[in-house]
Amino acid sequence: MSDESQELGITESKSHKPGEWYAEVVQKANLADYAPMGGFIVTKPRGYALWEAIQDALDGWFKETGVDNVYFPMFIPESFLEREKDIVEGFDPEVAWVTQGGHDELEERLAVRPTSESIIAPFMADWTRSHRDLPLRLNQWCSVVRWEATETKPFFRTKEFMWQEGHTAHATNESAWEEVWTRLDQYERVYEDVLAIPVLRGKKPEHDKFPGADTTTTVEALMPDGKSVQGATSHNLGQSFAEAFDITYADEDEDEKTAYTTSWGLSWRAIGALIMTHSDDQGLVLPPTVAPTQVAIVPIWQEDTKEDVLEYSQEIADDLEEAGFRVELDDRDERNPGFKFNEHELNGVPLRLEIGPYEVEDEEVTLVHRPDNEESVEDRDEIVDAVDEHLETIYDKLYQAAEENLENNVREAHSPEEILGTIGKHGGYVKTSWCGDEACEEAIKEKIAAEIVMQPLDDEGGRTAGEVPEPDRDECGVCGDPADEIAYFAKSY
Ligand SMILES: [Zn+2]
Repeated sequence: MSDESQELGITESKSHKPGEWYAEVVQKANLADYAPMGGFIVTKPRGYALWEAIQDALDGWFKETGVDNVYFPMFIPESFLEREKDIVEGFDPEVAWVTQGGHDELEERLAVRPTSESIIAPFMADWTRSHRDLPLRLNQWCSVVRWEATETKPFFRTKEFMWQEGHTAHATNESAWEEVWTRLDQYERVYEDVLAIPVLRGKKPEHDKFPGADTTTTVEALMPDGKSVQGATSHNLGQSFAEAFDITYADEDEDEKTAYTTSWGLSWRAIGALIMTHSDDQGLVLPPTVAPTQVAIVPIWQEDTKEDVLEYSQEIADDLEEAGFRVELDDRDERNPGFKFNEHELNGVPLRLEIGPYEVEDEEVTLVHRPDNEESVEDRDEIVDAVDEHLETIYDKLYQAAEENLENNVREAHSPEEILGTIGKHGGYVKTSWCGDEACEEAIKEKIAAEIVMQPLDDEGGRTAGEVPEPDRDECGVCGDPADEIAYFAKSY
């Protein structure tokens, strides 16, 4: 191995040092870089392409289900932020403020949005006159700033992050609940059908809800290191924001009624979960659904076979491109095939096509799967269908590995010792009966930094409210008091 290829490769191990390994994959696969200010990152083209893939999928589904995109200012006047007290209290320690414009002190401080309810809600109030204006469904793709003093972890923990935030108003609580479930379904779908990550649906415990919300629902993904990632959240805000911002409407009898609102968001943490879930010690692994390059064609030639091999490779590249695949024909002269294999592996190209003189002669193509190096040979004539099938197989392999990790890592525990021991030994989720007291979460958190990441939802067939099913045992797994809820403890990102 040359020095150059060593430098190219990943040196840390995913299982031994997941944090260092993650940072190395992000940088070496050219997804992001660190900005000069602590807590900020620069998203590079290949990283941004992943965000665009997520955006394309979600944005399409939003629009199919009645959502319009808007854009609101990144600054929120302090007096607006103060109108909903839970928002102020919830975000206060993390808000970045602008106090000066040019050379002049501002009369009123402006918050850099930590979330946009406080600037969007007053306009929703303006735009909602009659029951005929409802439901009102708005979404914006933007970034928000939360000034947390934690170590930067690209896509997982940054002071500024990209996300989408949806904001809706409804005439009834039922309609608001329907909205909450629609968005949670779409978040689940983006994880399972686009990112190849199975998720659990649930709700956050009372003390960990979005500030001002009635209910916060969530999709949670389990990473291979045993920690949970909050994948996206969908909140039923009840009437607290509508009351604070006068979102009212005239009903059919011209009586004034207060609306119900929801908000829901998915951030680029989804990219973090994507990298963490599938990648390995060779570098990035991506499902074909989001990979900027789905197929890398590496021609292998000697001087006397170069012309034939390149021509054959080009024809295949053209066929695949025409069929809609994202293809790169890697015909660089200055790199040998081994270097190219390593580089495409590092960059997470799901499928590699190897084409040498034998392939040309036999009218075949050799295909290699990124996740496990499985190799097969297909007929030249069938290549378009074959690539399609192989990409699907690769997606299934990734999904199944992630699903197996999830299925094997939900365990039950019935005492504090058992909860601590199980999380300490295996990580993953520990399911237990819970009395509902935050102090019981604290007791676990203090010892092992695990918390209640979610509570399972009752059969959602009825879909009216986020109710938690009754536990099998009626004693809290921590304090032993009567318990009528179920909680999932885990360490989390
Ligand atoms: Zn308890």
